[in-house]
Amino acid sequence: MKSEINELAKILKNSDNIVFFGGAGVSTESGIPDFRSADGLYNLSYSHPPEIMLSRSFFDTHTEEFYQFYKEKMLHPDAKPNKAHIVLAELEKQSKLKAIITQNVDGLHTAAGSANVLELHGSIMRNNCMSCDKQYSLDEIIQSHGVPLCGCGGIIKPDVVLYEESLDQRVMTEAIEAINTAEVLIIGGTSLNVYPAAGMINYFRGENLILINKSKTAYDKYADIVINENIGATLFEATQS
Ligand code: ZN
Repeated sequence: MKSEINELAKILKNSDNIVFFGGAGVSTESGIPDFRSADGLYNLSYSHPPEIMLSRSFFDTHTEEFYQFYKEKMLHPDAKPNKAHIVLAELEKQSKLKAIITQNVDGLHTAAGSANVLELHGSIMRNNCMSCDKQYSLDEIIQSHGVPLCGCGGIIKPDVVLYEESLDQRVMTEAIEAINTAEVLIIGGTSLNVYPAAGMINYFRGENLILINKSKTAYDKYADIVINENIGATLFEATQS
């Protein structure tokens, strides 16, 4: 594993066109559970499975129950950026990293100081009134009782892509463009089996594809370097020399 990290260090040092694509594994090190993993949300006992409770039709028909689940399980206001977020923000400041594409909705890349973050599934940090479009902060959602309501009486909805909803086309286009023009693509903390991750990776035409994930993925055979380790520690180690 040491030689792979040395190899990664060399690649990071020599490139100024790196793109990072990250999944839930990036945030688990900040204490945010991967709700698709065996020990994640899917094992919780609620009235419905999470993919129902986090669907648009459930939001529309069981808004109060949605928010109870959402506030209890999806919001982690005390979570802090970990080494992965911090190293990636640093690489962007050095003009080496061009974009972060994430499937996470926790806003931790932005909290770490990254500017060009493409959030495929939206963000819990943004919320808006469904009637008048007024914006609300995460704090205002947390402090609300029951269903958060706007001053105009409208229901506030988080800017998070729910099941049954389509992804933001602008974000998708920018993400594909970033992948398509990257020299180095680092994929971290995802097994790549969540839509649309796998399809997007196929746009990569660059030099080095690096996969960092605790377990093996179906894409390992296409990667130039595979590191089955903790992502924060790996990125930290590869940028310290
Ligand atoms: Zn309103």
